[in-house]
Amino acid sequence: MPQPVQYRGMSLIIPDNDTEWKEFYAHARAHRLVVRKCAACGLLRYPPTHACPWCMALGWSWREVSGRGTIYSYEIVHHAIQPGFRELTPYAVVLVELDEQRGQPTPDESLRIIGNLLRPDLTPEADAEVAIGRRVRVVFQDLADHLALPQFTLTDEPPQGRVWRLPG
Ligand SMILES: [Zn+2]
Repeated sequence: MPQPVQYRGMSLIIPDNDTEWKEFYAHARAHRLVVRKCAACGLLRYPPTHACPWCMALGWSWREVSGRGTIYSYEIVHHAIQPGFRELTPYAVVLVELDEQRGQPTPDESLRIIGNLLRPDLTPEADAEVAIGRRVRVVFQDLADHLALPQFTLTDEPPQGRVWRLPG
Protein backbone atom coordinates (compact mmCIF):
# COMPACT_ATOMS: atom_id res chain seq x y z
CA MET A 1 0.00 0.00 0.00
CA PRO A 2 1.26 3.51 -0.76
CA GLN A 3 1.92 5.81 2.17
CA PRO A 4 -0.94 8.24 2.82
CA VAL A 5 -0.07 11.92 2.46
CA GLN A 6 -1.26 14.21 5.25
CA TYR A 7 -2.94 17.36 3.98
CA ARG A 8 -4.81 19.68 6.33
CA GLY A 9 -5.63 16.85 8.70
CA MET A 10 -6.81 14.52 5.97
CA SER A 11 -5.14 11.39 4.61
CA LEU A 12 -4.75 11.54 0.85
CA ILE A 13 -4.10 8.17 -0.73
CA ILE A 14 -3.89 7.17 -4.37
CA PRO A 15 -4.12 3.38 -4.70
CA ASP A 16 -1.35 1.67 -6.71
CA ASN A 17 -3.91 0.35 -9.17
CA ASP A 18 -5.34 3.83 -9.83
CA THR A 19 -2.88 4.50 -12.63
CA GLU A 20 -4.93 7.35 -14.12
CA TRP A 21 -4.62 9.60 -11.07
CA LYS A 22 -1.24 8.25 -9.96
CA GLU A 23 0.33 9.34 -13.25
CA PHE A 24 -1.58 12.62 -13.32
CA TYR A 25 -0.29 13.61 -9.86
CA ALA A 26 3.24 12.36 -10.60
CA HIS A 27 3.35 14.69 -13.62
CA ALA A 28 2.03 17.48 -11.41
CA ARG A 29 4.82 16.81 -8.91
CA ALA A 30 7.24 17.37 -11.82
CA HIS A 31 5.28 20.61 -12.38
CA ARG A 32 3.72 19.49 -15.62
CA LEU A 33 -0.03 19.81 -16.11
CA VAL A 34 -1.21 16.93 -18.28
CA VAL A 35 -4.54 15.90 -19.74
CA ARG A 36 -5.55 12.99 -21.92
CA LYS A 37 -5.59 13.35 -25.69
CA CYS A 38 -7.87 11.06 -27.67
CA ALA A 39 -5.99 9.06 -30.30
CA ALA A 40 -9.04 8.99 -32.58
CA CYS A 41 -10.58 12.49 -32.56
CA GLY A 42 -7.65 14.41 -31.05
CA LEU A 43 -9.72 16.18 -28.37
CA LEU A 44 -8.23 16.76 -24.94
CA ARG A 45 -10.14 15.72 -21.84
CA TYR A 46 -10.14 16.15 -18.10
CA PRO A 47 -10.63 14.32 -15.78
CA PRO A 48 -8.51 11.51 -17.27
CA THR A 49 -11.34 9.13 -18.10
CA HIS A 50 -10.81 5.72 -19.68
CA ALA A 51 -12.79 6.44 -22.86
CA CYS A 52 -13.14 9.66 -24.84
CA PRO A 53 -16.39 11.36 -23.74
CA TRP A 54 -17.02 12.61 -27.28
CA CYS A 55 -16.19 9.70 -29.60
CA MET A 56 -15.87 6.81 -27.07
CA ALA A 57 -12.48 5.70 -28.44
CA LEU A 58 -10.17 3.99 -25.93
CA GLY A 59 -6.78 5.06 -27.31
CA TRP A 60 -5.12 8.05 -25.60
CA SER A 61 -1.84 9.65 -24.65
CA TRP A 62 -0.83 12.20 -22.03
CA ARG A 63 -0.46 15.68 -23.40
CA GLU A 64 1.19 18.52 -21.49
CA VAL A 65 -0.79 21.78 -21.53
CA SER A 66 0.27 25.32 -20.73
CA GLY A 67 -1.85 25.67 -17.60
CA ARG A 68 -3.06 29.05 -18.84
CA GLY A 69 -6.75 29.75 -18.97
CA THR A 70 -9.76 31.82 -17.98
CA ILE A 71 -12.02 31.50 -14.96
CA TYR A 72 -15.21 29.96 -16.36
CA SER A 73 -17.03 29.74 -13.02
CA TYR A 74 -16.23 29.91 -9.33
CA GLU A 75 -17.57 29.60 -5.85
CA ILE A 76 -16.53 31.16 -2.58
CA VAL A 77 -16.43 28.70 0.30
CA HIS A 78 -17.59 30.41 3.50
CA HIS A 79 -18.28 27.31 5.56
CA ALA A 80 -15.70 24.56 5.12
CA ILE A 81 -16.99 21.02 5.50
CA GLN A 82 -13.48 19.72 6.21
CA PRO A 83 -12.16 21.14 9.51
CA GLY A 84 -8.70 21.56 7.98
CA PHE A 85 -10.01 24.20 5.59
CA ARG A 86 -11.79 26.26 8.26
CA GLU A 87 -8.89 28.67 8.81
CA LEU A 88 -8.74 29.42 5.06
CA THR A 89 -12.35 30.61 4.71
CA PRO A 90 -13.54 32.45 2.76
CA TYR A 91 -11.60 30.92 -0.12
CA ALA A 92 -12.25 30.49 -3.83
CA VAL A 93 -12.72 27.32 -5.86
CA VAL A 94 -12.37 28.05 -9.56
CA LEU A 95 -13.32 26.18 -12.72
CA VAL A 96 -10.73 27.13 -15.33
CA GLU A 97 -11.21 26.80 -19.07
CA LEU A 98 -7.79 26.03 -20.54
CA ASP A 99 -6.55 27.94 -23.58
CA GLU A 100 -5.63 24.78 -25.50
CA GLN A 101 -9.21 23.86 -26.26
CA ARG A 102 -11.26 26.98 -25.61
CA GLY A 103 -14.85 26.57 -26.81
CA GLN A 104 -14.14 23.13 -28.28
CA PRO A 105 -15.81 20.80 -29.11
CA THR A 106 -18.69 23.13 -28.18
CA PRO A 107 -18.92 26.31 -26.07
CA ASP A 108 -20.71 24.25 -23.42
CA GLU A 109 -18.20 21.39 -23.29
CA SER A 110 -14.56 22.28 -23.31
CA LEU A 111 -11.40 21.54 -21.36
CA ARG A 112 -11.93 22.70 -17.79
CA ILE A 113 -10.05 21.98 -14.59
CA ILE A 114 -11.05 22.76 -11.01
CA GLY A 115 -8.72 24.06 -8.33
CA ASN A 116 -8.24 26.63 -5.62
CA LEU A 117 -7.40 30.23 -6.50
CA LEU A 118 -4.17 31.00 -4.67
CA ARG A 119 -1.56 33.73 -4.58
CA PRO A 120 1.83 32.78 -6.01
CA ASP A 121 2.96 32.00 -2.44
CA LEU A 122 0.11 29.43 -2.28
CA THR A 123 -1.99 31.32 0.28
CA PRO A 124 -5.66 31.87 -0.69
CA GLU A 125 -6.37 34.80 -3.01
CA ALA A 126 -8.71 37.47 -1.62
CA ASP A 127 -12.26 36.59 -2.61
CA ALA A 128 -12.83 40.16 -3.90
CA GLU A 129 -10.30 39.42 -6.67
CA VAL A 130 -12.18 36.43 -8.07
CA ALA A 131 -14.30 36.94 -11.18
CA ILE A 132 -15.46 35.02 -14.20
CA GLY A 133 -13.33 36.08 -17.17
CA ARG A 134 -10.13 36.74 -15.21
CA ARG A 135 -6.97 35.10 -16.52
CA VAL A 136 -5.03 32.53 -14.53
CA ARG A 137 -2.05 30.22 -14.75
CA VAL A 138 -1.36 26.94 -13.01
CA VAL A 139 0.82 26.71 -9.90
CA PHE A 140 1.78 23.48 -8.20
CA GLN A 141 1.33 22.81 -4.51
CA ASP A 142 3.86 20.11 -3.61
CA LEU A 143 2.55 17.74 -0.95
CA ALA A 144 4.95 14.77 -1.17
CA ASP A 145 7.66 13.28 -3.38
CA HIS A 146 5.03 11.71 -5.63
CA LEU A 147 2.17 14.18 -5.32
CA ALA A 148 1.42 17.82 -6.06
CA LEU A 149 -1.92 19.56 -6.52
CA PRO A 150 -2.41 21.76 -9.59
CA GLN A 151 -3.87 25.07 -8.39
CA PHE A 152 -4.38 28.42 -10.10
CA THR A 153 -3.18 31.97 -9.61
CA LEU A 154 -4.27 35.25 -11.27
CA THR A 155 -2.15 36.80 -14.03
CA ASP A 156 -1.89 40.41 -15.25
CA GLU A 157 -3.34 39.55 -18.66
CA PRO A 158 -6.52 41.39 -19.68
CA PRO A 159 -9.70 39.43 -18.92
CA GLN A 160 -11.31 37.30 -21.61
CA GLY A 161 -14.92 37.96 -22.54
CA ARG A 162 -17.38 39.35 -20.06
CA VAL A 163 -16.10 39.88 -16.53
CA TRP A 164 -18.64 38.92 -13.91
CA ARG A 165 -18.64 38.41 -10.20
CA LEU A 166 -21.37 37.97 -7.63
CA PRO A 167 -22.41 41.46 -6.49
CA GLY A 168 -21.64 42.39 -2.92
ZN1 LIG B 1 -12.26 11.10 -29.13
